[in-house]
Amino acid sequence: MENLLALTLADNVPEPREGEGPSFNWRWIGRGVLELTPFADAGLSVLLSTGIHGNETAPVEIVDLLLHALYRGDITLKCRLLVILGNPPALAQNKRYLVSDINRMFGGRWAQFPQSDETARAQWLEKTVTAFFTAAGPCRWHLDLHTAIRASYHLRFGVLPQRSLPWDEDFLSWLGDAGLEALVFHRSPGGTFTHFTCEHFGALACTLELGKALPFGHNDLTRFAPTHVALRALLGGTTPEHNPEPVARYRVVQQITRRSDAFQLHMAAHTLNFTPFRQGVLLAEDGEERYEVQKSTEYVLFPNPSVAFGLRAGLMLEKLS
Ligand code: ZN
Repeated sequence: MENLLALTLADNVPEPREGEGPSFNWRWIGRGVLELTPFADAGLSVLLSTGIHGNETAPVEIVDLLLHALYRGDITLKCRLLVILGNPPALAQNKRYLVSDINRMFGGRWAQFPQSDETARAQWLEKTVTAFFTAAGPCRWHLDLHTAIRASYHLRFGVLPQRSLPWDEDFLSWLGDAGLEALVFHRSPGGTFTHFTCEHFGALACTLELGKALPFGHNDLTRFAPTHVALRALLGGTTPEHNPEPVARYRVVQQITRRSDAFQLHMAAHTLNFTPFRQGVLLAEDGEERYEVQKSTEYVLFPNPSVAFGLRAGLMLEKLS
């Protein structure tokens, strides 16, 4: 059962579907989803998801290595763990998604998309995660591992969903120790997986963007080492080595939304994430609607003019520290 990735890509069902590992009981819940319950429970429940975008392969390979280490007994599991490989058909084809982006569908938003295997998957993942967190104690983490499409001034960064409660500083500090150079705080709801778990289960949730990925087998996993090492520590109940580098903090100040065919994004195609723009600069136009920089400096994140109507074509950020 340590071969979750191979099993998932081949769309095979394991036999048996549950059993015992060196430090945990395991249960296969469905394609790409495995629950591990430790013999010694330290009170923490961790949802570790990846492959929500099927071409973001490097963190999927890291999760695969973590599972192998757990089944070999190299890591003694100290937390409840739910591993999710988000979009198996897209993973098998090395595509971001096949019909629609699952990471816009959570919180019931799947009902607003054309019906597909991906809307069904989002709905099923919501049910699966609800069962996992309903049985959890108050200490809940959700780490959703991605890689960014474009180059970035910050190689690795995290995007945190809107949250009414303050963030736990130990969680934010762990993210820095996991190699993130910047944290971006959302201030409005969204259809991401991390927004769903934060809103519904109070999970400390972060979407980790870990640099660029190549097709399976071609990734240089040493580039992802800080995150890999910190995840090993988390699962084993230890503290990773502290990263003394300061972590920059940003918050979202506006979202650019593509609403029609008239939409134009006034940025070069290869604009890096976190590129700064001065106050007054025209960022995008959509018919009568104009997006300008409001603050003295704003930084762009995820600029993408070719999204579906009604979806995000970019976020503008203000730097906090
Ligand atoms: Zn992604």
